[in-house]
Amino acid sequence: MKVSIDDRLALLKYKVDSKPHIILKDERVCDTCQGKFCVHVCPASCYKIENNKIVFHYEDCVECGSCLISCDKENIDWNYPRGTFGVNFRWG
Ligand code: SF4
Ligand code: SF4
Repeated sequence: MKVSIDDRLALLKYKVDSKPHIILKDERVCDTCQGKFCVHVCPASCYKIENNKIVFHYEDCVECGSCLISCDKENIDWNYPRGTFGVNFRWG
């Protein structure tokens, strides 16, 4: 049976920190960014375009690092969540 990405993501558990572990350094850079690659690479849809602006929700992040690599403007301040916070993968 084929399992969708959404179904797989629904199995994850999160301990969300009140402090974001990923920050967009300068919103104005995002406003003028042509590619907006972060939106296309994030498997958890943490980046969205609303009213032509990037909206970011760190709470569903699976810590894959794809957005950091994709941003050709180096506009993402990326860190792992603090200890005990973040995604909890289910193995097996
Ligand atoms: S790729 Fe970088 S600069 Fe462009 S919208 Fe995403 S975070 Fe902003
Ligand atoms: S690290 Fe991965 S899951 Fe988290 S916001 Fe970036 S692309 Fe999305």
